[in-house]
Amino acid sequence: MKRRLVLLGPPGSGKGTQGELLAASLGVPVISTGGLFRDQMSRGTPLGIEAKSYMTQGQLVPDRVTNDMVRDRLSQADAADGCVLDGYPRNVAQVGVLDQILAERTWRIDAAVELRLPEDLIVERLLRRAVLESRPDDTEPVIRERLAVYHRQTEPIAQIYQTRGLLVTIDGDGLVEEITRRISQALRAEA
Ligand code: AMP
Repeated sequence: MKRRLVLLGPPGSGKGTQGELLAASLGVPVISTGGLFRDQMSRGTPLGIEAKSYMTQGQLVPDRVTNDMVRDRLSQADAADGCVLDGYPRNVAQVGVLDQILAERTWRIDAAVELRLPEDLIVERLLRRAVLESRPDDTEPVIRERLAVYHRQTEPIAQIYQTRGLLVTIDGDGLVEEITRRISQALRAEA
C-alpha cells in the first residue's frame, strides 16, 4: 500500500483538508510545513519569527530552515510507517533534499497527488478562507504572490514526479467527499 505521499496543489486547492483525510485513512501523520511554521509563529520561536517575514509576503521560507525542519519531523517515531507531506517539497531543490532524507532511511515516495483547480476558483476560495480563518497571508495581494510563487517554483516539481511515474493528477473542483473519493480511487488504481 502507498504510505508515503506528497500532496501538490496551489494554495486554496484543498490540500490541507485532503491531506488530513488521506493521512487519517492511511493511519499515518500529515506533515504540513505551513502548519509547522504557523505553530512556530504562534509560539514566537526564533524559527517562527524568521518564517513569519516570508509567509506574510507570500514568499517561500528559505530552504535551509525548511529542510532542517522537515528532516527533524521525519525523524520522529510516528513518521516511521509513512506520512502525507502537505506543502513540501515546494521547489525543485527541496525535491532533491527530500530524496536524500528518505534515502538515508531507505524510504521513498510512493506517489505524488496533484490537485488541480482553475485560478479564479482558487482566488475565490482563498478570499473566503481569509474571512473565516483570518490568516495573515490570505489578503488579495499576498494571495496573488503565493499563486505566482506556486506557478514559478512549485508547479515544475509535478513534472519531476511525472517523469518518475509517480504523479497522480486529481480534479480538485467539487465537494470534499467527492475529491477524497477521486484520490482514493486513483491511488488504488495505481497500486
Ligand atoms: P501553506 O499553508 O502550505 O499554504 O504554507 C503557508 C506558507 O508557509 C507559504 O506561503 C510559505 O511561506 C511557507 N511554506 C510552507 N511550506 C513551505 C516550503 N516547503 N518551503 C518554503 N516555505 C514554505
